[in-house]
Amino acid sequence: MSDYRIDTKCVQAGYTPGNGEPRQVPIVQSTTFKYATSEAMGKLFDLEATGYFYSRLQNPTNDYVAAKIAELEGGSAAMLTSSGQAAIFMALFNICESGGHIVSSSSIYGGTYNLLSVTMAKMDIDVTFVSPDCTEEELDAAFRDNTKLVYGETIANPALTVLDIEKFAEAAHSHGVPLIVDNTFPTPVNCRPIEWGADIVVHSTTKYMDGHGAAVGGAIVDSGKFDWMAHAEKFPGLCTPDDSYHGIVYAEKFGIGGAYITKCTVQLMRDLGCIQSPQNAYLLNLGLESLHVRMLRHVENGQAVAEYLQKHPKVAYVNYSGLPDSPYYERAQKYLPNGGCGVVSFELKGGRSAAELFMKNLKLASIVTHVADARTCCLNPASSTHRQLNEEQLIAAGVPAGLVRMSCGLEDKRDLIADLEQALAAIE
Ligand SMILES: *Cc1c(COP(=O)(O)O)cnc(C)c1O
Repeated sequence: MSDYRIDTKCVQAGYTPGNGEPRQVPIVQSTTFKYATSEAMGKLFDLEATGYFYSRLQNPTNDYVAAKIAELEGGSAAMLTSSGQAAIFMALFNICESGGHIVSSSSIYGGTYNLLSVTMAKMDIDVTFVSPDCTEEELDAAFRDNTKLVYGETIANPALTVLDIEKFAEAAHSHGVPLIVDNTFPTPVNCRPIEWGADIVVHSTTKYMDGHGAAVGGAIVDSGKFDWMAHAEKFPGLCTPDDSYHGIVYAEKFGIGGAYITKCTVQLMRDLGCIQSPQNAYLLNLGLESLHVRMLRHVENGQAVAEYLQKHPKVAYVNYSGLPDSPYYERAQKYLPNGGCGVVSFELKGGRSAAELFMKNLKLASIVTHVADARTCCLNPASSTHRQLNEEQLIAAGVPAGLVRMSCGLEDKRDLIADLEQALAAIE
């Protein structure tokens, strides 16, 4: 499949049926798998043979879909998790344990911010946040001897900043650590971070990949390019014996392309069990089959809505990297030449009350805590996700009270704009 274009991979990669086998990805709804002898089973437990034994670690349906995502991102291996948050935690914890340190862009999803600054802090893992627009010197100064990885989001949710992937990858590599990128918003259809130097890619598949608001899920993809053994002192988990498998060394036994995902599966998934259900993996695959077609329309609608709002007298400003006067326009032209995603945010001049009135009057766009769905939806962070902040804190967080985040779906853009027009007219 690797020679085919990305649109073809969206439809066909990952699963190739043999004679007489189902054309559609089969849902293997089984917790367990049968073996003829305990010796055969024992080989699986010793990682001497590959195969399935228990769906808490691995399941064939998940693996078909993970293989498709690996192909889409241009990676060597991938795995599915029960949510995007589970993917991010496992991707980080797989190489950064107690005593470790992470350099992260400050412009990231709120849930990830909490994971890093509150929950992983309790595990004695430190984080230094840097602006996605920091200078090379500022980025360099954030590293410590115990730094294990660099983290950022291609297009950040909700700030919509665009990451300079090459700059962050170079800084990471010069310090002997990998760059992990959350590529949820552009999806591999619009950006493939591995091509720009990222080493590991994570996804909330809940968003555009699923695309229909049907199933929560996540994915981790390894580029297979980071040489763990060359930095063995930093990554003992991959480069020294694992006592829970009779002392195997992942980086030796599974090589540069397999060590990271194998360890994450057989060690972290075994112990934490946050696996995606095969039913959800099946739904995710249905979404992936049309991802390339849908992303075109999400971008078309996002661009049209952003251009319309920018000209409207009741709108203070619009954040969308496809607008030529966006501070991220040039970076987006480089990393996202076909457009980024369908999420737009904007501030209404009338503040919180205007945002509330505007949203109440929308007929097509529904108010939900979700983005990247087939149906257009919107959210006022000040009265929902960022409700605990006062007015000054809201401004400091870049989410003033009148900010609305709108996720443009797959409807006709003329109907979306007409809906915006009548809702904006309702504001005094
Ligand atoms: C939603 C989201 C997550 C979290 O994913 P869940 O599937 O909700 O756990 C992580 N990163 C980004 C960029 C997201 O938009």
